[in-house]
Order: sequence, then structure tokens, then C-alpha cells
Amino acid sequence: MSIEIKQRLLPDGRPNKPNKPMVPGWITIHNTDNLTGTAESHARYILDGSGGRQASWHYTVDDVDIFQHLRDNEQGWHAGDGDGPGNQTSLGMEVCMFIGMKTEVAWRNAAWLAAFLINRHKLTVEHIVPHQKWSGKLCPSQLLPYWSKFINMVKEELQKLQRPKNEAIIEVNGAKVATGIFVNNLVFAPIRDIGAAIGAPVVWDNGSKTASINGNNVAGGRLIGGKAYAPVRAVAEAAGAKVNWNGKEKTISIQLQP
Ligand SMILES: [Zn+2]
Repeated sequence: MSIEIKQRLLPDGRPNKPNKPMVPGWITIHNTDNLTGTAESHARYILDGSGGRQASWHYTVDDVDIFQHLRDNEQGWHAGDGDGPGNQTSLGMEVCMFIGMKTEVAWRNAAWLAAFLINRHKLTVEHIVPHQKWSGKLCPSQLLPYWSKFINMVKEELQKLQRPKNEAIIEVNGAKVATGIFVNNLVFAPIRDIGAAIGAPVVWDNGSKTASINGNNVAGGRLIGGKAYAPVRAVAEAAGAKVNWNGKEKTISIQLQP
């Protein structure tokens, strides 16, 4: 997945940001502790001067939007540690928690953004920390009890972001069984792995580069790295399975008929 990061940057010189440069070394996660505020309304709050407080952070995320309020190369006031490393070296991300929000979706968006920022700034998942680390505040209040779950979500998103552009995931009944590769806009996968996963006997003819599944021929195969590959959709359909393509996740889902 990928969602647009909407820019609502706080102009330089405003009193609710430090106006100091930064090289990001950490990503600090917060919850808003606000039962009505959306990401959009927090973007407005910062642009309107944060109610006269010295308060600003880099990103706010909910189940619909991601807004950016400060550039990645400037400090914010969000970590509650004054001139400490939280404010001076970390990107602040507020995760919304308003009533009626789809919490799992917001967490997934936050995990995607954290993975995106890790990639952008050459950090690791160990650099994602709760606000609590800097000031002891019980924040992010909603995510702290599920911290390891959240970190796992970040790892999943990181894997997707770092996947080579020409790769696709092959799933059978929801479980990953192979990695495919795009050739001329078709996804090819190791035919024996697919055959084993769908429980169909596979015969490969190396001369004609043709695979036979349940006695149905699939032409157009090829050897890649010494392994027999064939177009996944044709293979699955030859075995009588249903096939769905999720372009956003670059995943082919094969559903075996009961
Ligand atoms: Zn916080």
C-alpha cells in the first residue's frame, strides 16, 4: 500500500516551531489523546498556531489521511524533553484516535509511514520509539500495549517497500507460497512450487518449455536461473483454481476450489 502524504507545512518563522535544522535519527510515535480530532483538524491546529503553545510535530495520521506539518530536516516540539534528543533528533508522528475511526487502518497507515521514513532516512525499526522513551509520558497511550504488534506491522510494510519492483507474491488460500517475477507484464513463478502448493501434478517439457498441469498444457514457460517458470495465472487456471490479482500489493491470490 501507499498513501499520499499531504503537505500542510508550517511556514518558517512561526512561534510554534523551533525553526532549527535537524538530521532525523529517530521516529517518535504519539497518540493524539484527542477523541474528536482528525488528521485534518490537527493540520489546521498547527497552522493556526497550536493554540499559542510551543507544540509542533512532523506528521499526523488517521484512517484516511497523512498530513505533513514540518519538513523532515527541521526540529519540532513534541517529545517533551526540551532541548533533548527527542525534540532535536526525532521525527514526530501523531496517530489519531477519534471515536468512530477505523483504528486498524490508521495503525496500518502509521506503520506504512514509519517504514517509508526508515527507508528515506536509512534508519532501522530499532529507531522507531514511543514518546515515552524521551519524557516518560504514557504515550502513545493506545499503541503502547500493542507496541510489538505495531513494530511487526512496520516490518511488514518495510518488506513490501523494499521488495524489488519486478517481484510479485504468490499466495494460495491466503498463505505465501512463492515469489514471482514480471516478464512482459505477466507474472511467472517456479512451476514446481506452484504445483506443490496447489496439489496438482506438474510435468515440464524442457524442449518446448511447456508445463502440463493435471494434463492441461501451459505454453510459454522459460528457465530462469535453471528453474522452470510458467505464467502463474495460466497454471492456476489449468489446475481449476480461481485467481485474483491485487495490483497495489503486487500479489496473486490463488483460491483452490473446495
Ligand atoms: Zn506523545
